[in-house]
Amino acid sequence: MTVDTPIAGPDTASPPAWLWFEQALLDTGWARSVRIGLRNGLIDSIVTDVAAAPDDSVHATGLPGLANLHSHAFQRGMAGLAEVRGSSRDSFWTWRETMYRFVDRLRPDEVAAIAAMAFAEMLEGGFTRVAEFHYLHHNIDGRPFANPGEMAEAVAAAAEQTGIALTLLPVFYAHSAFGGAAPVEAQRRFVNDLDGFQRLLQESGRATSNLPDAVLGVAPHSLRAVTGEELRAVCGMSRGPIHIHIAEQVREVEDCLAWSGVRPVDLLFDTVEVDRRWCLVHATHTSPGELQRMAASGVVAGLCPITEANLGDGVFPAADYLAAGGVWGVGSDSNVSISAGQELRMLEYSQRLLQRSRNVMADPAGGSTGGAMVRDALAGGAQATGADVIAGLGEGQVADIIALAAPDGSAAPPGDHALDHWIFVTGDGSIDAVWRRGRQVVKEGRHVARPDIVRGYARALSRVLSDA
Ligand code: ZN
Repeated sequence: MTVDTPIAGPDTASPPAWLWFEQALLDTGWARSVRIGLRNGLIDSIVTDVAAAPDDSVHATGLPGLANLHSHAFQRGMAGLAEVRGSSRDSFWTWRETMYRFVDRLRPDEVAAIAAMAFAEMLEGGFTRVAEFHYLHHNIDGRPFANPGEMAEAVAAAAEQTGIALTLLPVFYAHSAFGGAAPVEAQRRFVNDLDGFQRLLQESGRATSNLPDAVLGVAPHSLRAVTGEELRAVCGMSRGPIHIHIAEQVREVEDCLAWSGVRPVDLLFDTVEVDRRWCLVHATHTSPGELQRMAASGVVAGLCPITEANLGDGVFPAADYLAAGGVWGVGSDSNVSISAGQELRMLEYSQRLLQRSRNVMADPAGGSTGGAMVRDALAGGAQATGADVIAGLGEGQVADIIALAAPDGSAAPPGDHALDHWIFVTGDGSIDAVWRRGRQVVKEGRHVARPDIVRGYARALSRVLSDA
């Protein structure tokens, strides 16, 4: 797998650089007039209440990059293709048929090009790490590639090209329904037995070994795609993060109840030990008791508000979960639209519509909604993706930083108000610069390799869609 213009490289290539922010969210809270020295990919020094030096890169508001805890990068290529109504009632399940037809045609080079587009947009949208829930493993005919990690290498190449930090989650997928039902033909590129998955995991480790800060975990796809025995075996294969799709759909809950007599989150907790390494993706249709179990165990709820709205999944009971002390983060999932700020806006607005009240995701004791959401999403995203836990920028941390421009060039709104403006007012237009491991990967809102990435993406997509 070759890539054009790789962004990530040896740390020794990083020149020392100085950034200056009118204000920055530090691990000690907001600070004014902040000068940050970057060296070898890390935050080398932070000085507050100091004027900018002549060569400093000057910005309004600085904060840590967020982790995108759930992505299927290749689905970026079908964004906009499933917004046409068929003769029947459209749902997640009809969308999945479109996804299966799209996935049938993808080759490794095309996956790399599409993933690079998705990852570049993630960086532009405020995400500096992505957890890639990677389930497209085999060749078009369903047979494994000679190297089982071929597709993992395609994802890793896209991470290298764009510079995003990668948490790779190879997916174990074996069945089409609860009770170990045989997979269907459309799932042939996803399925493995346990021995095949072990090999895939080894090769995935090799594929990511040269990426700085890469993390490797596992993802049993869903309770319908794995048996209890397989679930326990897959969890035993990794010390990294464990992610699973759960309770996204009402039908999935009904099928689970019909087969096991209990709801999905209860079934998961009854089957394996679930702890802070886990991310329960969606968890949309959960009972109060299930929410309590999730919160008490310290798992991260992996919320994907834009995709959940796009697919008509439902609304996560966030108010009850927050009241129970639950941890959460956000993911871009189907990548139909990629933006950390928009995910947070959609999350809060869906809760307002559901609750018929305002500022649902804020701290119940009061305070800024944007501030509370960004802090929660930073901590939950870092936990779920196996990154060092980041509450704010601090010396010694990997230099993953986003800069928000001040609205219309005026002074930055102070402290958390800048986050409220970003999420609820100005959106992605606020993000003018992003550094990933100390290198500037986004300038004036655009990824520095965007022209090459767009060319590769357009080439890949025209070939894939011309086969339609
Ligand atoms: Zn997903």
